[in-house]
Amino acid sequence: MYGLKELKPAIKIEENSVECPVKGCSIKVERQRITFKREQKYQCPVHKIYISPTTFEYETEQDYLLWYDNAEKKLYTNILKAK
Ligand SMILES: [Zn+2]
Repeated sequence: MYGLKELKPAIKIEENSVECPVKGCSIKVERQRITFKREQKYQCPVHKIYISPTTFEYETEQDYLLWYDNAEKKLYTNILKAK
């Protein structure tokens, strides 16, 4: 999982692309429109996270989970249940 401290304070959002929010990563993916989709063209191949310009703006737990892949999300949900 990526902690907030490992993310860039801001990401570069261009007309048709958005960059990976992980610090030190310069990968750019196609910019998502309207609905968040888990498609490969929106995924950083290095960090396996789906990127959209809007999810990064939110730091609430629920929105932040969008950064994780399904397996990690499931794991995280299980951890929450175990508490
Ligand atoms: Zn990346």
